Amino acid sequence: MTKRDDLQGRIFGRFIVVDFSHVHQRNAYWHVACSCGNKRIVTGNSLKRGLTKSCGCYGREATGNRRRSHGMSRSREYGAWCKMISRCTNPKDRRFNEWGGRGITICERWLHSFANFYADMGDKPPRTLLDRIDNDGNYEPGNCQWATPSESNFNRRKFTFPARYSEKKKLPPQTPLPSHQQPRE
Ligand SMILES: [Zn+2]
Repeated sequence: MTKRDDLQGRIFGRFIVVDFSHVHQRNAYWHVACSCGNKRIVTGNSLKRGLTKSCGCYGREATGNRRRSHGMSRSREYGAWCKMISRCTNPKDRRFNEWGGRGITICERWLHSFANFYADMGDKPPRTLLDRIDNDGNYEPGNCQWATPSESNFNRRKFTFPARYSEKKKLPPQTPLPSHQQPRE
């Protein structure tokens, strides 16, 4: 029996590997989601060898209307979507314990479709991250917002981080304001 690589959560071109499908004639097949929202089943080999990088949308865009605002304008949102899926579904993600390992899940609507995610969340402003409003809630419409690090729930959560994280993030002790700058009651 040959050892099958675990590709779940990995990204190849516009594809993210959602989960394992089946084996046929010694080829492992995987469910993948394209950044445009299409789903495909492809062999692991074609992913690893770079033969399959999109559902076909990349070729259609390259030869089609170049004025469409795809591509770069969506890349930040696509990156956020990929990372969300990885940290919630891929036990090999170094941040899995903080998300998937805590039982944080992604709604079906977003898990299999970047297009749905983008339709619900809209453009990602610079220097923001994907924030869950309720820290114990899931990734789903209504519980997510683009937020700067200081606005985000991620930041409010720092006091519950395991020691090895909070150690690194320890803030300098509060310096009292000089008395003439003390706020008045
Ligand atoms: Zn596509």
